Amino acid sequence: MRTLLTEQELHAGVNRLAGEIDACYGNHPLTVIAVMTGSLVLFADLIRMLSMPLRVGIVQASSYRGGTDAGELVVDRAMMIDVVGRDVLLVDDIFDTGKTLHRLLDELGQLGASSVRSAVLLRKQRPHAVSIRPDFTAFEIADEFVVGYGLDYRDHFRNLPFLGVLEADDLAALSGESA
Ligand code: 5GP
Ligand code: MG
Repeated sequence: MRTLLTEQELHAGVNRLAGEIDACYGNHPLTVIAVMTGSLVLFADLIRMLSMPLRVGIVQASSYRGGTDAGELVVDRAMMIDVVGRDVLLVDDIFDTGKTLHRLLDELGQLGASSVRSAVLLRKQRPHAVSIRPDFTAFEIADEFVVGYGLDYRDHFRNLPFLGVLEADDLAALSGESA
């Protein structure tokens, strides 16, 4: 596996992200929502660097694969913290096509949030499928498949402290595994 961002670089990037978020909201109360599961590690680091009064929640958005409209996101509303009249910041691992954040921003607006912004660790440099962009981005990366610091390949590698690029021989080694 090739290291794309070291633990130190990630820490510096998240610190920069927290600084931008602090500068935007000041001491205004904020509801911060983690998009599960990829943002888990980022979220834990980020919320400890923010200084305004915080409420935290999580949201699970999964692709619906049962019907003809494959790829549509299903949002589990039961798990959602109350957002009515709140300023909300959605935190996700990576902005790829952008469909996940687009769908969730829309959902939170419908649930009555008074404002919704988004923060991501990574944004891929590729054509995005949606018109929106994250409000806060720590790193722009090339269009490669990355793992670590919360991001997985078939549920592996989320615990890596660095961000790596999976290469062909890594994939070959994994495909020989029974898990
Ligand atoms: P979207 O395409 O909707 O912007 O991103 C959907 C999700 O795809 C992300 O939240 C992330 O879970 C996953 N994803 C996109 N690119 C990568 C990648 O390079 N590595 C990993 N591990 N997941 C990715
Ligand atoms: Mg994700």
